[in-house]
Amino acid sequence: MMTDLPKCPTCGIAPEIKIRSRGMNWGSAQIRCVGHHHIGFSFPPGGEERAKRDLFEKWKKLVEENHEK
Ligand SMILES: [Zn+2]
Repeated sequence: MMTDLPKCPTCGIAPEIKIRSRGMNWGSAQIRCVGHHHIGFSFPPGGEERAKRDLFEKWKKLVEENHEK
């Protein structure tokens, strides 16, 4: 997946993104750098695009917050 996401603030590697839809059931979205940072949440059926945007926004916020420390 091509993104302009910022790298992990701890190690500088691009984060891993997983978005899994489950038909009529809630799907799961997560972004992580193993051992450093992890964000995950569930999203309702059909909410994949919205979940992707939320995931990116949450990650960017996390990176900004960690750069400040
Ligand atoms: Zn990392």
